[in-house]
Amino acid sequence: MASVLLVEDHPLNRRLMRDLLALRFEVIEAGTAEDALATLRDCRPDLILMDIQLPGMDGVTCTRRIKAAPETADLPVVAVSAHALPHDIEAGLSAGCEDYITKPITEDPFCFLDRLDGYIARARARHGG
Ligand code: MN
Repeated sequence: MASVLLVEDHPLNRRLMRDLLALRFEVIEAGTAEDALATLRDCRPDLILMDIQLPGMDGVTCTRRIKAAPETADLPVVAVSAHALPHDIEAGLSAGCEDYITKPITEDPFCFLDRLDGYIARARARHGG
């Protein structure tokens, strides 16, 4: 089963997203960017769902750190944010995010899960399995 590191500070949002992700993935949770970076020291998820507005380090900075470290640079990161103005999206994509998703997720939940599978498959194809 593929695994997803869910980075989200809001407890209710995290629980709702975790319950959805758990239908298809093993879910690892982090409430802060710092917590996510600590988790990545000893686990390699197949995908990271990164909230952008976080207390302390924000999701864009966290993504830059992940992309700057050779051991985590290949991990696909998908930004999830309530703010999706063009410059927010640009900041996320230029930090190395695979995509930028606006929350709340309004898409059909199973289409959303399929989309996450697609990001994982693309990253695997790019990095040779
Ligand atoms: Mn947040």
